[in-house]
Amino acid sequence: MTDIRIDDLAGKPLLYDRSAPGHYGTGGVPTRPFINQTFASECEDCFVELCRRLKDDAGLEVDKILTGGVSRAGSGSSLHHQNRAFDLDGFLFADGTNWVADTFPQRPQLYLGIEAVLRKHFGTVLSYDYNRAHQDHFHFDNGTAVKFKSAAKSHVIFLQNAIALVYQMPIGRDGVWGPQTDREVKALRDRFGIGALSSVSNWTALLDQIAKDAMEQERGTVGDPEDFEPETCPCCGQLLPS
Ligand SMILES: [Zn+2]
Repeated sequence: MTDIRIDDLAGKPLLYDRSAPGHYGTGGVPTRPFINQTFASECEDCFVELCRRLKDDAGLEVDKILTGGVSRAGSGSSLHHQNRAFDLDGFLFADGTNWVADTFPQRPQLYLGIEAVLRKHFGTVLSYDYNRAHQDHFHFDNGTAVKFKSAAKSHVIFLQNAIALVYQMPIGRDGVWGPQTDREVKALRDRFGIGALSSVSNWTALLDQIAKDAMEQERGTVGDPEDFEPETCPCCGQLLPS
């Protein structure tokens, strides 16, 4: 298995942002990880799409990619040890703003838009709601093929999050496929004319739709200073603390 070294994806430099605690989300040091060649080309395709969608749908131009890295020291058997896993911590954007993975509760649409694109390219994506270890980064690897699995907690919680937070339908978010999830996912598929998720092309079509809708919502909800109206005291006109 051939490993290569890369210092960018989709032309965007990679920064390792965990070299100091204060770096997370703000910068970091340029990194050139060893990476499995096949996995590298899958990552390239994924980030080309991700950067294009962030720009076109969310209005965010990626300048740098923040990563927790690819390889792990030692002789473990994880996909990281095989240089076939990537930890995505965040992005720095050309307008000086950023996105980091631990802002899922504050910016769920952007988070889910990014997650949808990652899922189009990788069978294994671990996210904020998967477990505590993944609250500050997305982990993805090519250990499994892209395919929807109703028994996979990470797949189900993604769909439940999308239904609740992108499409604003009430649904329990427990990562378990039950009658309510079955009903709501069917309603979502019907809305977009997408067939059963047992077909890979239907799964990726649904991911495509979620990515677009989620990122367009991000564009509508973040970054417009005119949305902020400070409250003033009705008697003296002074600004009230928010
Ligand atoms: Zn990882």
